[in-house]
Amino acid sequence: MISECFGKDELPWIIINRGEAKMEKVAIVGCGTYMDQGYGCPGEWRCLKAASQGDGKFKAPSAVVSFVKCQCPGRAVIPTLGMAAKLSELKPDKIYLSSCLANAMPKCPYNSPEELAGIIKEKTGIEVILGTHDYH
Ligand code: SF4
Repeated sequence: MISECFGKDELPWIIINRGEAKMEKVAIVGCGTYMDQGYGCPGEWRCLKAASQGDGKFKAPSAVVSFVKCQCPGRAVIPTLGMAAKLSELKPDKIYLSSCLANAMPKCPYNSPEELAGIIKEKTGIEVILGTHDYH
C-alpha cells in the first residue's frame, strides 16, 4: 500500500507499507530436455511472470526460490530439489511442475507428470502442482 503524508510545512513524503503478509515460497521444475533443446521457454519468463503476478496455477504472487531442471530419466530431480533448498536455505512451500513439463508433447518417455509429481511429493513431503501458466 502506498500513501502520501503532507505535513503543514513539509514536503510530501511517500510512505510505503510493505505489509506483513509473506509470499508463498515456490520451487519450479522444468523439463531439462525442453530447456536444453530450446523447444520452449522453461526458465525464460512465462513461469516467472505467472509466479510474480499470481497468474495461471498460482493463487497469489509467489516468490520463486529455486528453478530446477529435470534431467532424464528424472530420478535426479529429487536430490537436486533437496540441494537447492539446502544451499539457498529456503524450503519451498509448494513445488510446481512447469507447464511445458506438465503438458509436454511429445510426452516424457519416463514418467507421466502425475507420476513425477507423486514421486516428488512422496520424497519431499511438499505439495506438487501440475503446471504453472496459461500464456502462449
Ligand atoms: S525425464 Fe521427462 S520431464 Fe525429465 S527431463 Fe527427461 S523428458 Fe523431461
